[in-house]
Amino acid sequence: MPLRRNRALIIGGSIGGLFAAHLLRRAGWDAVIFERSAGDLADRGAGLGITAELFDVMRRVGLKLSRSLAFHVHSSIWLDQKGEIGCETSRGWHSSAWAIIYKPLRAAFPSENYRTGMTLDRVAQNGDTVTAAFADGTREQGDLLVAADGVYSTVRRQFLPQIEPRAAGYIAWRGLVDEKDLPQGAHELLFDRSAFSLPEGELVVSLPVPGPDNDMRPGHRRYYFIWYRPADAARRAALFTDASGRSHGLTIPPPLIRPEFIAAMKAAARAGLPPILGEIVARAPQPLLQSISDMEAPQMVFGRVALLGDSAFVARPHVAAGATKAALDAACLADSLAASGDDVDTGLARYERERLAFGRAIVAHSRYLGAYLEAQLKPRAERSAAELERDPRQIIADYGAPHLVHGVDPASLDD
Ligand SMILES: Cc1cc2nc3c(=O)[nH]c(=O)nc-3n(C[C@H](O)[C@H](O)[C@H](O)COP(=O)(O)OP(=O)(O)OC[C@H]3O[C@@H](n4cnc5c(N)ncnc54)[C@H](O)[C@@H]3O)c2cc1C
Repeated sequence: MPLRRNRALIIGGSIGGLFAAHLLRRAGWDAVIFERSAGDLADRGAGLGITAELFDVMRRVGLKLSRSLAFHVHSSIWLDQKGEIGCETSRGWHSSAWAIIYKPLRAAFPSENYRTGMTLDRVAQNGDTVTAAFADGTREQGDLLVAADGVYSTVRRQFLPQIEPRAAGYIAWRGLVDEKDLPQGAHELLFDRSAFSLPEGELVVSLPVPGPDNDMRPGHRRYYFIWYRPADAARRAALFTDASGRSHGLTIPPPLIRPEFIAAMKAAARAGLPPILGEIVARAPQPLLQSISDMEAPQMVFGRVALLGDSAFVARPHVAAGATKAALDAACLADSLAASGDDVDTGLARYERERLAFGRAIVAHSRYLGAYLEAQLKPRAERSAAELERDPRQIIADYGAPHLVHGVDPASLDD
């Protein structure tokens, strides 16, 4: 009789859940994904930071890594308030889009093990068995449950009800502008580089990204910006409340952002940003808005339940590493379980030890990168020197995550 394979219930079928399911299957587990959304997730998403580590894990999954997965900029510039280049450094970046990473992961995963429209309600444990109860009344049993259900994780809220994302005191407007719609001069100045701009109390980071459907052809790409602005609790409450008076918390569906806030933001962009950037921001057809927050779980393993990706740690976007963190969590989980053989609990203990340390470090660095923005809510006299002064070269050098390689060696790609 064949031996029974260990069974993992993966809650959440986004990037973290897919990496975990692929790698556990490769380590000999039976892995089934339960995803709340009934539709295609690939319809959503925007720009995503790419690291060498993310591509390493994709290769482990067996995916072909083509040049078309990421867009490369060769340097970074600081644009002063007049729109002149204040400095240029050789810091390059690779960027991509969420769907470009998600789609091949999803396509390579067996459909019969990816169940959509399944919303987890609750988890129960009995000895070495974990039971997931779903909103439709069904129950599933396994030897392990992986909570890859994102920042508002149902699983984390059950085991750590006190842990929630904490607003950092600033918000971000994000947007994409088609290459063909860029203002005159933007192309020559901006298209090969990432551009940083430091208006008083604020920060704009911008760079070119692939166009719709991963289109890298000149003329078909897009320009992405993220504009960080201080906002106290009252301001955030107003921004994230729609016209019907409904509050949406830390983010808001883009079509529900009140038109007067978008108009005011675009007017402020034209008045206060370097002219070329202000014009780009003002041309974004549907800006996105989020409150910047972070979150740290003090524990990632609860018996046979393991938190993974954004359910455990959320770093502020300055580190550009959400997808990489989820991929590395998944790789560590699969490796730790493989190394411990039949002793699942020992494997989980090793996973937790390693990933808690990584999660804490990356959140701490993201707070350091956002400290100046967060300090804007304090009276000037109470701010430290680092919170008052900014050195553009230092900001560019520190941006991203220091323990990750924000770029991919083109020679390492398959075509
Ligand atoms: C559609 C989508 C688009 C995104 N676009 C971007 C982007 O453009 N740029 C970027 O930097 N990051 C984006 N992210 C976030 C990014 O995926 C994460 O920061 C990172 O990759 C870690 O992913 P995760 O798998 O841990 O969590 P998430 O990507 O947040 O995925 C969590 C998944 O769990 C599912 N889920 C939640 N609750 C339940 C439940 N109770 N039962 C079953 N399923 C549940 C959700 O539907 C979701 O698919 C996006 C996420 C999603 C879901």
